[in-house]
Amino acid sequence: MSQAAAAPKVGFVSLGCPKALVDSERILTQLKAEGYEIAPDYNGADVVVVNTCGFIDSARDESMDAIGEAMAENGKVIVTGCLGAEPDVIRNMYPKVAAITGPHQYESVVKAVHDIVLPPHDPFLDLLPPQGIKLTPRHYAYLKISEGCNNTCTFCIIPDLRGKLASRPVGDVLKEAENLVKGGAKELLVISQDTSAYGIDIKYAPSEWRGEQYQARFLDMCKGLGELGAWTRLHYVYPYPHVDEVIPLMAEGKIVPYLDIPFQHASPKVLKSMKRPGNVTKVSERIKKWREICPDLAIRSTFIVGFPGETEADFQLLLDWLTEAQLDRVGCFQYEPVVGAQANDLGLEEVHPDVKEDRWHRFMQHQQAISAARLGRRVGSVIEVIIDEVNGSEAIGRTKYEAPEIDGVVYVKMGKKRTLPGNVIKVYIEEADAYDCWGTAAA
Ligand code: SF4
Repeated sequence: MSQAAAAPKVGFVSLGCPKALVDSERILTQLKAEGYEIAPDYNGADVVVVNTCGFIDSARDESMDAIGEAMAENGKVIVTGCLGAEPDVIRNMYPKVAAITGPHQYESVVKAVHDIVLPPHDPFLDLLPPQGIKLTPRHYAYLKISEGCNNTCTFCIIPDLRGKLASRPVGDVLKEAENLVKGGAKELLVISQDTSAYGIDIKYAPSEWRGEQYQARFLDMCKGLGELGAWTRLHYVYPYPHVDEVIPLMAEGKIVPYLDIPFQHASPKVLKSMKRPGNVTKVSERIKKWREICPDLAIRSTFIVGFPGETEADFQLLLDWLTEAQLDRVGCFQYEPVVGAQANDLGLEEVHPDVKEDRWHRFMQHQQAISAARLGRRVGSVIEVIIDEVNGSEAIGRTKYEAPEIDGVVYVKMGKKRTLPGNVIKVYIEEADAYDCWGTAAA
């Protein structure tokens, strides 16, 4: 019997945000479908793909370092992702990179792999699991619903890198979600650059799923996802008026009561300079209404401090707004002038790095007290927790109010009970700080 030739191996380095992770998963799915194997290290790889991030300077540096390492360790390197939109920058430093493609150019990446090492003659297409290849743990999966963005936030170059909004047909999104759930995903994390803008570009085109027509609308998509019985979590939601429509789905338990809304600031003047929606009073009122409909709604957000022109009064307004909005969790970045961002040309006064640093610390301290108070309300109650990790008699998981990787966790004493990643168990919460909770597995 002749022995089959060993399958060619592709190494993969995936950097950046969850959206880049989804791109990596798609490329890997395609390569795996063609019969390639994924190499666990540089040495065993016939070619290495580096999926880069170009969002801020530190991410660009990390991407350049990763390309350098792959070149030194392997030498046959394909670069893709956001930084791939700037081939000259990469070629200047690494002239021998084999190929460079921009973000979500899956076919070009796969073609570049073919140019270096051909796929096996007879690919075992049926070895591909229906849910594709996932880089996240089996029990949760990112679901990318669109590419690009139609907004023009002045601190951001993502629309230049990733182009205008391009929504996927709703039937495809729901089918993929269904396959992910069939493949073991208990939690779906809906991502895009602007989730609430879903479908605008394709004029809400209807498509079919499970024999029914769905429109490519935020609400319709959420209704479909709510049928799958998994935890569905919405990320990167702009506070458009139609977001109000999904809150009842959260109250009914169809979608998890969690919204990730990057507010970025609260001063109308700064928001205007950022070209973000600026009516914070209205937003506060809506948050109150959302909480009346769905009292356990958790809101996480991100903010930027030290944006050009931000005064102490603007910053104070932001702190006051945080007190009023009572958000559950927030992330905060100090403004970085990304090359190519419109904000650099607004003629606004830069905020001194020491002032940025000081505001960042004050912001974090201010929010910590709010987050601690909100998390503290859980102490003494029994809450469902999805398990991410088990270490002997201890497990680490999250409630519906925490997304993986960005929010805090729940540390669970299991005692004599046993569990596995992906299980949803009941936990008695005994302690909480500004980020995490501690508890015991309940009977
Ligand atoms: S919404 Fe604004 S910050 Fe987000 S990707 Fe679009 S332009 Fe960038």
